[in-house]
Amino acid sequence: MPENARILYARAARGLPVTEDFAADSAPLRQPEDGQLLVRNIYLALEPYYRNVMKGMPMYGAALKPGDVMYGETVAQVIDSRHAGFSAGDHVLGRGGWQQFAVLEGAGARKLDPAELPLSTALGVLGTPGLTGFVGMVYLAPPRPGQTVVVSAATGPVGSTAGQTARLMGARVVGIAGSTEKCAYAVRELGYADCVNYKTEDLKAALKRTCPDGIDVYFDNVGGDTLAAVLANLALHAQVVLCGMIGAYNADAPPVGPHLGPVVIARATLKGLVVFDHFNRLPELRKVVGTWIKEGKFHYREDLAPTLDAAPAAFCRLMRGENFGKSLVRIAAEHA
Ligand code: NAP
Repeated sequence: MPENARILYARAARGLPVTEDFAADSAPLRQPEDGQLLVRNIYLALEPYYRNVMKGMPMYGAALKPGDVMYGETVAQVIDSRHAGFSAGDHVLGRGGWQQFAVLEGAGARKLDPAELPLSTALGVLGTPGLTGFVGMVYLAPPRPGQTVVVSAATGPVGSTAGQTARLMGARVVGIAGSTEKCAYAVRELGYADCVNYKTEDLKAALKRTCPDGIDVYFDNVGGDTLAAVLANLALHAQVVLCGMIGAYNADAPPVGPHLGPVVIARATLKGLVVFDHFNRLPELRKVVGTWIKEGKFHYREDLAPTLDAAPAAFCRLMRGENFGKSLVRIAAEHA
């Protein structure tokens, strides 16, 4: 019986996660039962919200206790199918976890077409993060042509999809990102009009300079001081999409929110976004953004850790904001 290499959730993280919050082991491979699939994982997505799962927050049905295989979405290939909808060799998307092999419920897996676009994009730009940025911009706070849109974590999978979608809708996009390299990429590759490095500039003043007529739409991935600096620069009747608060995920207690007086002055609208309400729009994302990618109008990048063993360190890098592009782990080669 082959062994399954696994990364376990070892203990609740305190503050920034460290590699000691995880443990590696191997266990005998489990066989699938009726309705299930045995798969080999190929790519693992690392997502900021896993940090909240590690706090014991029951996020999206995921709850972890020490000793459990770390939770995560994967692209995988079916080895043995006990579900009529799948055959050995099919590529699927599912919650395969931080491990070499997994047993998935067929009902919860989605078949992928490897001929359509690179398989890894199902975890990034053409998956949950891309859908988040796309629906937030198109359906929650659509900018009018010529309006100014600001996006934080502007080069990540959510931010770069929101920003490029806004640009392709005719808006002027200004990014907020955490390094010179990220800001240069945002202007050169993503086509933003400008990008502010909040680590080297006073953000409030830099937004006043780069958005002289005020900010019409803000897509917020960060919360905290970044949100406060944007609120201080809102245009009249601005729209704000509250998507993520990564600045707070490493905190042990909920942070005090920004002062909301500027929201009143601007008569602004704030909207909360949870991507799981919008999964019916995945085919639209794949069609629209997939076409933009093929036409060379839309760019994405990936930050790929080379092995399963490297997953804990890669996740810690993500939670320190040091990733550049969609954070992924290669667990195995695409073709066995
Ligand atoms: P990502 O951009 O790949 O990675 C997170 C980025 O956040 C970092 O690279 C860093 O970029 C930035 N950041 C800013 N302040 C930070 C801080 N204090 N600590 C760590 N990083 C910080 O992430 P993503 O997958 O695209 O997700 C972006 C946001 O969307 C996250 O908040 C995530 O939780 C949220 N999200 C929400 C939904 C939903 O349904 N609402 C769905 C998916 C994701 P810079 O160096 O450029 O600052």
